[in-house]
Amino acid sequence: MPGSPNQIIRPEILALSAYHVPPASGMVKLDAMENPYSLPPELRDEIAQLVADAPINRYPDASAASLKASLRQALAIPDGMDIMLGNGSDEIIQIIALAFARPGAVLMSVEPAFVMFRMTAVFAGMKYAGVPLNADFSLDMDAMFAAIARHQPAVIFIAYPNNPTGNLFDSEAISRIIEAAPGVVVVDEAYHVFADASFMGKLAQYPNLLLMRTLSKLGLAGLRLGLLAGRPEWLIQLEKLRLPYNIGVVTQLIAEKVLQHHDVLMQQAAAIKAERAIMGERLEALNGIEVFPTDANFILFRVAREGDGNEANRVFLGLKERGILIKNLDGYHPLLKNCLRVTVGKPDENTKFLMALQASLNKSNN
Ligand code: PMP
Repeated sequence: MPGSPNQIIRPEILALSAYHVPPASGMVKLDAMENPYSLPPELRDEIAQLVADAPINRYPDASAASLKASLRQALAIPDGMDIMLGNGSDEIIQIIALAFARPGAVLMSVEPAFVMFRMTAVFAGMKYAGVPLNADFSLDMDAMFAAIARHQPAVIFIAYPNNPTGNLFDSEAISRIIEAAPGVVVVDEAYHVFADASFMGKLAQYPNLLLMRTLSKLGLAGLRLGLLAGRPEWLIQLEKLRLPYNIGVVTQLIAEKVLQHHDVLMQQAAAIKAERAIMGERLEALNGIEVFPTDANFILFRVAREGDGNEANRVFLGLKERGILIKNLDGYHPLLKNCLRVTVGKPDENTKFLMALQASLNKSNN
C-alpha cells in the first residue's frame, strides 16, 4: 500500500494553508496593490505586434541579457553589482531561502510583514523568527538586536516600505541592523516608486546587503518580473538555483518595451501618489477611523479601537456587498486588530470605495 499524503508530505507543509487569493470578478479591486492604470493605446499596439512576432516555439533567452541591460539602466543599478531576475519577487525570496537553508538556519523578519517571508521559510525548511514591531509599526530595535544575537539569522528580510503597514522604517535603524547581522539583509523595495527612498546607494557600503525590486506595483503585476541586485559573490551562488527559463519570452519582450517608456510608469506612479494624499485626507475625515501613515500605494486603517469586537470583518463584508474588494487584516497579527488595507485606485474607484465605506460604517454603528 502506498503511503497517503499525510504520511509522505512534510508535516510543516500539511500544517500550512495555501496563500488565499479571493475571486474579484466584477468587483472594484483594491486588495492587491496593483497599478489601476493601463498603458497608452500606442504602446499597447506595439506590444500586440511584439507578441504576434514573438518566437514562442523557442525557449526564452535563459540569461535575459537584453532585458537585464534595460533594467540596469531604468533602475540605475550601481556599477559592480549583479542582478538576478525572478518570476515575480516571490520567486526571488524562494531562491534565497533555498540557498540559505542550512540545517537549523533562521530566516528573520518583522511582524507584521509580507506573509511570504514566513511561508517561504517553511517551504525551504528554514526556521522562522518574526520580531514584533512597535504599536506605531516602527522597528523595535532592542527586540531586533536581541533576536539577531539569539537566532544568528542567515537572512533578514525587511520590506521598505513595509507591507501591510505601508510605512518606511527609519533608514538609520535598518543600517544598524545590516551592521549587526551575521548573515545577509534583503531590503525589499517592492513599493519603492511610491516612497522616494532607497538602499540602492548603500549596496557598495555593505557586503551583506541585497536589494529586491519588482515591476508588479509599477503596472506590470501580470507579467511577473522581480529582480535582486547585489554583489557578484552572492548572486553567482543564487543564480545556481534559478530555473533556467524562469522569465518567459513574452515577459522579456514586453518588459523591455515598457521600460523604453519608463516615464509613462513614473507618471502613473505620480498620479497614484497624488490620489493617495486625497484619499488619506478623505479617510481621516470619516468618524471613528484611524489612518496610518503610508509611503506605499495602499493605506492601512483601523475601524475600531482594540477590543471592539470584529468591526473590521463587518466593514469588510459591507464593502464586499457593495462591490468593493479590499483586504481584511484582522487576525493576521495582534497589532492589526480591526485593521483593513485598501490599495489606491483610480479617482472614481476611490470615491466608490469611500462612499461604500461610509455606508458600511453607518450600518455597523446602528
Ligand atoms: N514584497 C512585498 C513587500 C510585497 O508586498 C509583495 C507583493 N504583495 C511582493 C514582494 C511580491 O511581489 P511580486 O511577486 O509580484 O514581485
